[in-house]
Amino acid sequence: MSWANQFNGSTIYPFNNSTVQRTLKYIFVTGGVVSSLGKGLTAASLGTLLENRGLKVCLQKFDPYLNVDPGTMSPFQHGEVYVLDDGAETDLDLGHYERFTNTTLSRMNNLTSGQVYARVLERERHGDYLGKTVQVIPHVTDEIKARIENLAEQSKADVLITEIGGTTGDIEGLPFLEAIREFALEVGYTNALFIHVTFVPFIKAAGELKTKPTQQSVAKLREIGITPHILVCRCERPLDKDLRQKISLFCNVPYEAVVEEKDVDHSIYEVPLMLQRERMDDLVCRLLRLDVPPANMSHWQDILRKLIAPQRRVRIGVVGKYIGLQDAYKSVYEAIIHGGIGNDCGIELERIEAEELDKPGGEKLLQGLGGILVPGGFGGRGVGGKIRAARFARENRVPYLGLCLGMQIATIEFARNVLHLDGADSTEFNKAAPHPVIAMLEEQRGITDMGGTMRLGAQPVQLRVGSKAAGLYGAFVIHERHRHRYEFNNAYREQFEQAGFLFSGTSPDGELVELVELADHPFFLACQFHPEFLSKPNAPHPLFRGFIAAAYAHSHPAQAGAQNSRG
Ligand code: GLN
Repeated sequence: MSWANQFNGSTIYPFNNSTVQRTLKYIFVTGGVVSSLGKGLTAASLGTLLENRGLKVCLQKFDPYLNVDPGTMSPFQHGEVYVLDDGAETDLDLGHYERFTNTTLSRMNNLTSGQVYARVLERERHGDYLGKTVQVIPHVTDEIKARIENLAEQSKADVLITEIGGTTGDIEGLPFLEAIREFALEVGYTNALFIHVTFVPFIKAAGELKTKPTQQSVAKLREIGITPHILVCRCERPLDKDLRQKISLFCNVPYEAVVEEKDVDHSIYEVPLMLQRERMDDLVCRLLRLDVPPANMSHWQDILRKLIAPQRRVRIGVVGKYIGLQDAYKSVYEAIIHGGIGNDCGIELERIEAEELDKPGGEKLLQGLGGILVPGGFGGRGVGGKIRAARFARENRVPYLGLCLGMQIATIEFARNVLHLDGADSTEFNKAAPHPVIAMLEEQRGITDMGGTMRLGAQPVQLRVGSKAAGLYGAFVIHERHRHRYEFNNAYREQFEQAGFLFSGTSPDGELVELVELADHPFFLACQFHPEFLSKPNAPHPLFRGFIAAAYAHSHPAQAGAQNSRG
């Protein structure tokens, strides 16, 4: 009998020792061999497929590091900090979850070891464990299990997908793995599924894909007491039948539970379709006894068509200081691509290191771009280059989109070069600036703690009638996510406005500047918030869609009249 035939979802895992009859299903995603395998993308893509089969899906990430949240980590350590509506500063994988599914996440959806230990220690001081020795098992693991249960309860989802960060074998990940092992036992094996994302490297010299790291990684998991039901094999070449059989046999998973996840050719948005082709969602539903129709992914195929064979193309420059890092501006890059999808326009992304612009001849890097985007950031490094980029965009009528720091940069540039306010600056970079056009928010003064203390999360923004922004949004009140300490200094408002620097969005009380635009410019728009966190491939953010439409019009003036911005 072949491995394929031996597999039968209804008899392989018949054991269910749960006393509570649950309908909720749990999927745990672990990773092996190396980090950066795209566990988050795999989890999010599975979420897409299950949602499109009619299930309500919720996703959650466990991060084994001791920081309470990633908000205090450098992008060099962690990549982007993804901000949620409720102001939680979270792991960038939550960005994938929101982009790939319809879930809106909260701080409940990202748990770090730091949070777990803070809670256990708080309870210990409170006397909740009075008389007991407080230990990793059961106190830390119970806390982790409680988070899974609480979220399951709160989300009212049919399926809760929990991704465990890090790599199997990491010391700090052990309490999480122990917790999910216990949890699966408690809810019964027909209600819980373990998916292990692993790496099958191609060794050039041998001309072969190698399965040994996967075998060892699965062995490591089994040592902990977890037997994966499905192996998602990341590889650069396709897995052939023999290799799948070998992995199946040596790793103790049925043949059809060896899922190939080859490096994508064009876009991360291929992953759900790739997993569907591998019938992974069928298998998941069978194992979890979920009787649901197949996923209709035609809208997703349409997205992909626009990515692979767009009608148009445009070059967009992103000027930042973490340009060499793949993950530092993740949501920004994604939102630009979504803006492209919204215009059926392919994006050629130019990642421009801000400091390079400050070097002689650096401005050459800005030539020929359809649009220039300056993303968020902290600290003075690269600010000079970013100001040059904003000036170049303003003077040459190149579409500009500034995000958070990018808005503050546009303000400083305008103050210095149009209003001739010498030494205009943000007090973040120069505390004694003669013209502090950007200054610390009133509410931020006196705050000394660095973690979770910025102005964070979704805040209402009132848009000005007749502004470009209101036209793009098609609304007058919007909610956007924030993460900042500094803000436009109202003492300068009138002066700016008189020179054509318009305040097209403010907080509802009119006190905080949220959105600015230049009156005499085809598209110069900058916001104090982070629109990139609310963009999805199937719902491109209006500011990004408008930006790409303007960028295309700028670089193809002849076709501009004919183009359809759908903005
Ligand atoms: N550093 C600036 C501030 O704190 C901008 C923050 C950002 O870009 N996220 O206001």
